[in-house]
Amino acid sequence: MGNLSRTVTILGSTGSIGVSTLSLFEESRVEVEILALTAGRNVEKLAEQALKWRPRLAVIEDETLLPVLRERLAGSGIETAAGTGAVRAAAELPAEWVMSAIVGAAGLAPTLAAARRGAIVALANKESLVCGGPGVLDVARKAGGTIIPVDSEHSAIFQVLQDPCRDKVARLILTASGGPFRTWTYEAMRAATPEQAVAHPNWSMGAKISVDSATMMNKGLEMVEASYLFATPENQIDIVVHPQSIIHSMVEYTDGSTLAQLGPPDMRSPIACAWAWPDRLSWPAAPLDLAAIGQLTFEAPDLVRFPAIAIAREALRIGGHAPAAMNAANEVAVGAFLDRRIGFLDIAGSVQDTLDRLNGGGELGDQPGGDELEAAMIIDASARRVATEVVSRLAAARAA
Ligand code: NAD
Ligand code: MG
Repeated sequence: MGNLSRTVTILGSTGSIGVSTLSLFEESRVEVEILALTAGRNVEKLAEQALKWRPRLAVIEDETLLPVLRERLAGSGIETAAGTGAVRAAAELPAEWVMSAIVGAAGLAPTLAAARRGAIVALANKESLVCGGPGVLDVARKAGGTIIPVDSEHSAIFQVLQDPCRDKVARLILTASGGPFRTWTYEAMRAATPEQAVAHPNWSMGAKISVDSATMMNKGLEMVEASYLFATPENQIDIVVHPQSIIHSMVEYTDGSTLAQLGPPDMRSPIACAWAWPDRLSWPAAPLDLAAIGQLTFEAPDLVRFPAIAIAREALRIGGHAPAAMNAANEVAVGAFLDRRIGFLDIAGSVQDTLDRLNGGGELGDQPGGDELEAAMIIDASARRVATEVVSRLAAARAA
């Protein structure tokens, strides 16, 4: 049953997770009928994937690239479309299984669109959950669909946290690789370049999540993600640095027993879990060779060099829209860092500053009306506005 055939849509097919998903389909030889593939700007890769996988529809978010997409797919019979609305419309096509692998809050509207029609949503796009809040899960539940986490930590917890003992959880323990700067001094981190920040020791990922791993804001976002997915308060979620990335996370139960999920660091494994759950997919996965790995080590995260973890805890404690605001501020700051406008340590600094300003102005407690998407988009936009100001000031000071 695990290698069952299905209709599928991949949102963000040209990114690291999108490519891993298609690679898994190929390796496992599952039969898929792809309804839509979508991408942001990588039109050449999208066209190449479309010609190989023959979806009904290929969508490029950047409208200026539609003529190129049309030209590349001319005569193929594959429909083409462009723009934010078209990405969302792709999610509305009746695919049974949708991979949500767009990066950032831009993934929220299409993720909700898929959830709202009751699809199985394989959720890699953690920012959409952090931005949209637990309401995103309710939308799926009400529609009779499911959201299955693909983030490796959450997939691990999902696999070891099954009924009937969900209420006997003492702690969720998220493992973190520590990123490329785990052993760097604070002074060295101050001068870190985008190239150094995206060079992750264990995982090959998109630029944004790679920078998030370097600041450990990735773990902060994941703490929020875990809190929402598993209805667990912040004080029951711990983080431990585990540089080998073999244990993907753990659940400690009230009887003192801790269950862990292990595997080589390959995202195709959590994607396979999201594909086949509650069954298992058969594919030529690399075996876990613990003797060759030799040692699994653990250390506490350093909150001085990685303040993002404390910021995320604070956002969860504030509750409401604070995590959504944190996410938006982080997206702005990471963009500015990748554009070399601000320094590496300015990323967490500007997120904290943005949250302080919004919290001081009482904006985080506001519960805007409307549906999940509208409410999330309001706080996302106001946090982006404040963060852009904060970042511009830092950039100007740096240029002077
Ligand atoms: P990526 O940057 O490699 O790919 C992102 C995809 O989204 C691409 O197809 C891109 O074209 C598309 N895209 C970008 N902006 C868009 C927009 N505004 N509208 C529509 N499409 C857009 O990122 P990734 O590493 O594959 O990560 C995707 C998501 O999965 C992120 O939320 C990330 O946090 C999460 N995730 C990734 C990994 C990993 O190993 N890469 C692990 C866990 C979670
Ligand atoms: Mg992760």
